[in-house]
Amino acid sequence: NDTSTKYYYTTENDLPLLKNRTKFAHKGHFGHALLVAGSFGKTGAAVLAAKACIRSGSGLLSIHIPQFSYSIMQSCVPEAMLVIDETEQIYCQKDHLEPFTVVGAGPGIGQKKSMREALHTLITNTDAPMVLDADALNIISQNHELMDLLPKGSILTPHPKEFDRLTKKHEFHYERIETAREMAEKQKLIVVLKGANTAVIDVNGDVHFNSTGNPAMAKGGSGDVLTGIILGLLSSGYDPIDAARLGVFVHGRAADLALQKESEESLIATDIINHLGLAYKSIR
Ligand code: AMP
Ligand code: MG
Repeated sequence: NDTSTKYYYTTENDLPLLKNRTKFAHKGHFGHALLVAGSFGKTGAAVLAAKACIRSGSGLLSIHIPQFSYSIMQSCVPEAMLVIDETEQIYCQKDHLEPFTVVGAGPGIGQKKSMREALHTLITNTDAPMVLDADALNIISQNHELMDLLPKGSILTPHPKEFDRLTKKHEFHYERIETAREMAEKQKLIVVLKGANTAVIDVNGDVHFNSTGNPAMAKGGSGDVLTGIILGLLSSGYDPIDAARLGVFVHGRAADLALQKESEESLIATDIINHLGLAYKSIR
């Protein structure tokens, strides 16, 4: 019952300004993102998140993948570098993390023991805000002590089921939003509660409802694209809250633009990626 809470509706006029690159910009100015994504049978999630990341401003992208997916990733995302695990599992070591300025984890990683350990290593050795989605969130729900170890300002992007796993079962969505506000304030995290009118909740409990997006996005892969977008923006220097709000808006805008050519049935996550250019142009 905190009356100071603010609820906002984010339209094009309320967005953080897009940064323009200076004439003498070089890739070192836009960070080096590490994406931990994919596992056997879920390499597609890694491809989608990676493509969205490099289409959202990241200077360099490395993708941490299990060895079997080497040729898939190299041919699907030639712009990215690959950090390959020689075991078939994903694991992470502290000294692997040195070159990276931001870390995103979750899409398609599964919840095997090796991955749970890798996530623990990642979280305990990362200082900069992280982007965490999908199975990274599911792993945290099973290992709640990880929640307190997350770098402040990290961005969590649960859909309602993932959020309920992280917290408790909710009957109504407005109750979920209130729980998310408590979590954001207590843990100093940004919670992106996905769905129609995604709620982006800041570390002070402010709720920013998004105005873009459409039901054609309600299919596999859409969320992986959002993770990549937010990681790319964070890498290129936006504050976490700006990266989250801009990312959610542009994700929906790209899907709205794609829907001019596609139908609600036919639109796929790749179409969202392919319209990111127009989406960014539309808010410049
Ligand atoms: P995920 O469930 O992780 O694949 O994420 C789905 C993505 O699609 C999120 O960014 C949602 O906000 C978006 N989405 C799903 N359904 C809708 C909808 N009915 N209207 C707008 N966006 C949606
Ligand atoms: Mg998802």
